[in-house]
Amino acid sequence: MSQQPHFLIIGAGLSGISVASHLIKKNASVTLMDNGVNHSSLIAAGMINPLVFRRMTKGWRVDEFMPYLHTFYRELENWTDSKFFHPIQIRRMFSSEQERDLWLKKQEREDFEAYMYKVTPEDENYDQVLNDFGSGRLKQAAYVDTPIFLNAMKQWISENGNLIQEAFDPSLLEETSYKGVKYDHIIFCEGYLGVDNPWFGQLPLNQTKGETLTIESKAIPEDESVNRKCFILPLGENKFKVGSTYVWHTDTTDTTEEGKNTILQNLSFLTKEHIEVIDQAAGVRPTVVDRRPLIGTHPDHPNYHIFNGLGTKGYLLAPLLSKEFVDYLMDGKELHDEVDIKRFL
Ligand SMILES: Cc1cc2nc3c(=O)[nH]c(=O)nc-3n(C[C@H](O)[C@H](O)[C@H](O)COP(=O)(O)OP(=O)(O)OC[C@H]3O[C@@H](n4cnc5c(N)ncnc54)[C@H](O)[C@@H]3O)c2cc1C
Repeated sequence: MSQQPHFLIIGAGLSGISVASHLIKKNASVTLMDNGVNHSSLIAAGMINPLVFRRMTKGWRVDEFMPYLHTFYRELENWTDSKFFHPIQIRRMFSSEQERDLWLKKQEREDFEAYMYKVTPEDENYDQVLNDFGSGRLKQAAYVDTPIFLNAMKQWISENGNLIQEAFDPSLLEETSYKGVKYDHIIFCEGYLGVDNPWFGQLPLNQTKGETLTIESKAIPEDESVNRKCFILPLGENKFKVGSTYVWHTDTTDTTEEGKNTILQNLSFLTKEHIEVIDQAAGVRPTVVDRRPLIGTHPDHPNYHIFNGLGTKGYLLAPLLSKEFVDYLMDGKELHDEVDIKRFL
């Protein structure tokens, strides 16, 4: 690879932005193209939760992802002179005796110590929301303020690379030239729209729609994020984001009454007090059947690459996976087996 390879990245969501930031850090030349139809990275609550509550297990590779993401987001905050990464306490309200017992067991384990506080009498009797079976608190949770993050990074990339606001048309790509400009590599970070990609469209990328509500309430705590059947993320001034729904194999981004009612129904397990819905949003997650991202190089086009399929936990996964991807592109390091698209080829 030449000294200053020129990369064309399609898609300025979390994936494209994370990859672009690592490439620019390594002095590569980057052009980022986006059609302005972002529906996932922007809609996302940006919550970073090291545990999978449903099974009370640790998330995949979480011991590697968690320390790195702190460094990553803090570094981007410094570069952009903005603030979008916020540690937050997540409180899980237990759904059953079994879940409580499982938490009490796991909290004694050394490998969970970094992520769980031991349940205290205050947690057992927590009364800021409905409490049937007690609660437990997470360590190391955080959230990314997604609009601030995306805007700040797009601005930074336009100053340190090239940001083009237009739709990429695959029929205009000749080898690695696009509209008369020659690139060394093309990287596709198209999110759920990647199903239509002519070179990578055969990969098993799914479209999983999600909706969120923004609500106003004086009855919900503002100092932590409470979770049971749904998450509540405090936004300040008695406003909260609540979500999400999961509807598989759906690529529409319209908000629905059904989505709203599902979230309100889930929220009723945390509060019966009056709340006001002030906004509703929908997006589509790029998910993969084996719950691992789709990263790698086309078998017949060595200069075409994909970084997609971040699924439901993109803000947790993207920092380290995009670094590993750029180390693979620039330094020839191996990709992690579980993310490499070779597994489907
Ligand atoms: C309701 C909801 C809540 C979520 N909550 C969380 C959460 O709390 N925590 C978390 O970690 N994750 C969450 N996620 C998941 C997270 O949003 C995704 O994992 C992540 O944002 C995917 O990013 P992406 O860049 O791959 O895709 P996208 O955000 O979809 O970005 C792809 C970009 O490519 C552009 N594009 C596509 N095709 C073209 C083309 N031909 N030409 C030009 N541009 C193109 C699109 O316009 C878009 O801007 C949530 C998702 C949803 C929907």
